[in-house]
Amino acid sequence: MDTIALVTGANKGLGKETARRLAARGWTVLVGARDERRGKEAVNQLAEDGTDVHYLPMDVTHRATVDAAAGRVLAEWGRLDVLVNNAGIIGSRRSALDMSGADLRECYEVNVFGTVTVTHAFLPLLDRSSAPRLVMVSSGMGSLGVTSDPERPESGLVSIGYASSKAALNMITSQYAKALPRCRVNAVDPGYTATDLNGHQGLQTVEQGAEAIVTMATVPADGPTGTFVDRYGSVPW
Ligand code: NAP
Repeated sequence: MDTIALVTGANKGLGKETARRLAARGWTVLVGARDERRGKEAVNQLAEDGTDVHYLPMDVTHRATVDAAAGRVLAEWGRLDVLVNNAGIIGSRRSALDMSGADLRECYEVNVFGTVTVTHAFLPLLDRSSAPRLVMVSSGMGSLGVTSDPERPESGLVSIGYASSKAALNMITSQYAKALPRCRVNAVDPGYTATDLNGHQGLQTVEQGAEAIVTMATVPADGPTGTFVDRYGSVPW
């Protein structure tokens, strides 16, 4: 049976590469994107090799667009097998001392509240799948273990908004994993990857960065759940 997957923020970067890889497996892939032109452009590129890829308009911070997207998926495909919550922003680059509550909120709107809004809207569709999978695209920056390990480059960075938003996302992942025993729910750290998010300073290619996302999007029904991994293995929370 066909597998139906939705990747949020899939018009570029890691989301687009993840969509490409899942579509290459013969899956039906829904490319979530908030901007119609960027979303359709990405779909046109991804569909070039005859894959089954569709543009799904969705701004994760606007509940009405998320609900409309879920309604369309129900009407057209009747269920969702895999949800990849990939859409994310760095947020304000102000120093820790200049970071305001409003700056923090901007980052949380996408990385935390947006992710929960999308997950909440699509849970009934995931429930209609025989092998539901939920992938949260987190970051090593959201790990207390990684950011306090002097051996890791993340320990030298200060980013109150982004890091704490991904830490919140990690706990949300762990809680969803407990609440949804039938669903495989995992957080992934793609690793430092050259995308618009970091002005293409990242050291990995998007192919390498999407590795862990694809691994967790394709786990079997009895595969791992409640884990946090990168492409090398387990990541400390
Ligand atoms: P990117 O190239 O900047 O892509 C981010 C995607 O998220 C874009 O498609 C963007 O859409 C979308 N997005 C942002 N706000 C949105 C909203 N309100 N609604 C819907 N979509 C929205 O960044 P990336 O590096 O691929 O990041 C993807 C994920 O990986 C993020 O969650 C990021 O935190 C995580 N990550 C990245 C790295 C890295 O080194 N790159 C490392 C660890 C984790 P627009 O084009 O419309 O802005």
